[in-house]
Amino acid sequence: MLKQNGADVKWSIDQTLLTVELNTPLLPGKSSTFNINFESQVPIQIRRSGRNNSEGVAYSMTQWYPKMAEYDKDGWMTDPYIGREFHGVWSDFDVKITIDSSFTIGGSGYLQNPEEIGHGYIDASKVKRPNSKELTWHFIAPQVHDFAWAADPDYVHDIRTTSFGLDLHFIYKNDSNIANNWQKLQSYTEKSFSIVNEVFGEYPYKQYSVIQGGDGGMEYPMATLISGTGSLGGLVSVTVHESIHSWFYGLLATNENKYPWMDEGFTQFAQYIVLDSLFHRRLTNPAAAALKNYRRIAVDKDYEPMTTHADYFHSNRVYGINSYYKGATFLSQLSYIVGDAVFFPAMRKYYYTWRYKHPTPDDFKRIMEKAADMDLDWYFTHWIGGTKTIDYAISEVNESKKNTEVIIERIGQMPMPVELLVTLTDGSQQQFYIPLFNLRGEEKLC
Ligand SMILES: [Zn+2]
Repeated sequence: MLKQNGADVKWSIDQTLLTVELNTPLLPGKSSTFNINFESQVPIQIRRSGRNNSEGVAYSMTQWYPKMAEYDKDGWMTDPYIGREFHGVWSDFDVKITIDSSFTIGGSGYLQNPEEIGHGYIDASKVKRPNSKELTWHFIAPQVHDFAWAADPDYVHDIRTTSFGLDLHFIYKNDSNIANNWQKLQSYTEKSFSIVNEVFGEYPYKQYSVIQGGDGGMEYPMATLISGTGSLGGLVSVTVHESIHSWFYGLLATNENKYPWMDEGFTQFAQYIVLDSLFHRRLTNPAAAALKNYRRIAVDKDYEPMTTHADYFHSNRVYGINSYYKGATFLSQLSYIVGDAVFFPAMRKYYYTWRYKHPTPDDFKRIMEKAADMDLDWYFTHWIGGTKTIDYAISEVNESKKNTEVIIERIGQMPMPVELLVTLTDGSQQQFYIPLFNLRGEEKLC
């Protein structure tokens, strides 16, 4: 059954795409109501979705309902989900799930009827649960672009209330082998949110749930489903990564099929900053590891531009290194070009300007250009769209009695402004800045 405003409507299915021929056109700013009944079989867990996975979680319900395709100034986004990136429409989700009363559910949104449900969402003494074999869980998730949930009869459910108005929910299997790690994870998660709030802008929802989904880690609005059995370090790292996606995916909802580096790379960059702070590493450049990884493909014959459609990379390796590490290096180098004093406030400006929207690379570029008063087109064009490398070398050092001449040579085809630190024989240092014509500006060095 599929109806538009109560009337039957023509539809067709092509692979996983359902196309509807509207009875009446839907004009900008207008609304229309659709009703659809659908049945689906929950598969044995495939990539991060399904039932009865290897960690024993009964249901990991992601990519589980007919999802609207985004239509905007860029046209339709009809790419099917094939296990990599995804994209959605900004919406208010009002979801009711009826399930056997033994199950605990965690997911996106705020539970509306905790007094009927219990299951750790409210003090056990306040629960007025109907004496029924099933419970209907009512969730509302405002201003999000997807809704994910997981259910299991053996879930433990802890809530950590933070000092900054956010409730963190931890939902994991009742298993003595993992309980200790899941309890220790909770303070790390709180600290991570507090760091990202400060550095990249405030998380606006009042709830976030870390749920043992049983397979890797995947981001969804207001929640993540992660594998629950690893080491504490691994658990912290994946939770930090997935929760940072609340900013770069959850709120800055870029079309990640087209620009996977804008969600994975930006998240990875922020993850380095958070882990550096959580574990008191105090590295000069927390994102240096990304550069090291990126260099592994920079000279590879399979190397492709970072902006390649996520589903069409030659290999998972080239997709992964491009999206996560070249993407993180993109931001790390950008902070070098414009200077940290400009970069971090501009990241917050980007967040507050573009959250709840679908920003593109050019939207991000304009925020940075205005903040830095620089032309950054050359940087975005070459780094995002091409495979040119940045490679400078000292080609000659000529010493005379009074002077030392150092010749710097550009070997790679991509230009950069160069900051050079010279240490003299007496141990003192001098900094030189070699500007770049294309930049039409200079970093203000302190
Ligand atoms: Zn990610």
